[in-house]
Amino acid sequence: MAYDESLLRNVPLTSAGFDRRADLRAGEDLLTQALADPATRVLPVAHGFAPGHREALSAGLEWRSPAAGDEGESAVYLGQANGRAHLALLLPPSRAAESWLSLRTDGAWLDALDGEALATATALGNWHAAHRHCPRCGTQTTPANAGWTRRCPADGSEHFPRTDPAVIMAVLDPDDRLLLARHPSWPAGRLSVLAGFVEPGESLAMAVAREVHEEVGVVCRDIRYLGDQPWPFPASLMLGFEARTDDPTLHVDGTEIAEAHWVTRAEYRHKIESGAWAGGGTSLSISRRLILRWLDGGAAAM
Ligand SMILES: [Zn+2]
Repeated sequence: MAYDESLLRNVPLTSAGFDRRADLRAGEDLLTQALADPATRVLPVAHGFAPGHREALSAGLEWRSPAAGDEGESAVYLGQANGRAHLALLLPPSRAAESWLSLRTDGAWLDALDGEALATATALGNWHAAHRHCPRCGTQTTPANAGWTRRCPADGSEHFPRTDPAVIMAVLDPDDRLLLARHPSWPAGRLSVLAGFVEPGESLAMAVAREVHEEVGVVCRDIRYLGDQPWPFPASLMLGFEARTDDPTLHVDGTEIAEAHWVTRAEYRHKIESGAWAGGGTSLSISRRLILRWLDGGAAAM
């Protein structure tokens, strides 16, 4: 399945590599059977790091056959690809080797299968590590459904991995200038589009409007969804939007945002080319794609 690129192009981590086969996960011996099959592909993952190799503009994970001792690890079933079962072994952080790749550093260069594998294993690993006890009674829970849930042995309740929605938005003024801002923790010259978590009881558009108003005092209209991206640091789903404002007057809050600027395309290019700004977001992130779309005139053309 291909990602819909009509609005936002080349967003990393949005092509499906696996047939996830959720229907198989409840099978009691799915993991045992897969580990007994030498055709199965296994990927060790420790706190988001996995073995692999990187070159200039490409990277690949190093999958292996099942090995002695894998049965004792926390395995998750990622799905089927190329006729084979693919598993991730969730290892403690101390088991990562110096040379291993991470999604954040290398994710932009992985193919669809490797990118989805590392994003999924990173997200599931973060969730398992942080949700070891039952939220109802506090008893230690155990992994179930081939690593996709945890179950409480005391009350039988089942708990599912969480994904936290966050909105990220390209805000444009009447002159088609883009709003860029710097968080107080970021170094000088690093600016990007605004983003924030969706709060309980909010729609996505409500979250976009609230975040923009809270952070820079700007009122938005015409909030449009453009695309999204899994962002398992530790458990986000980034939902990309474009929004317009009629009044570009900025009231920077100084707490969540240190500085904010409206820039024309020429001003932005000059800032990047002169080295004054580092560019918005990493090559992995949807923020970079939102900025590139605006630079290409995509926003004006819509
Ligand atoms: Zn419980």
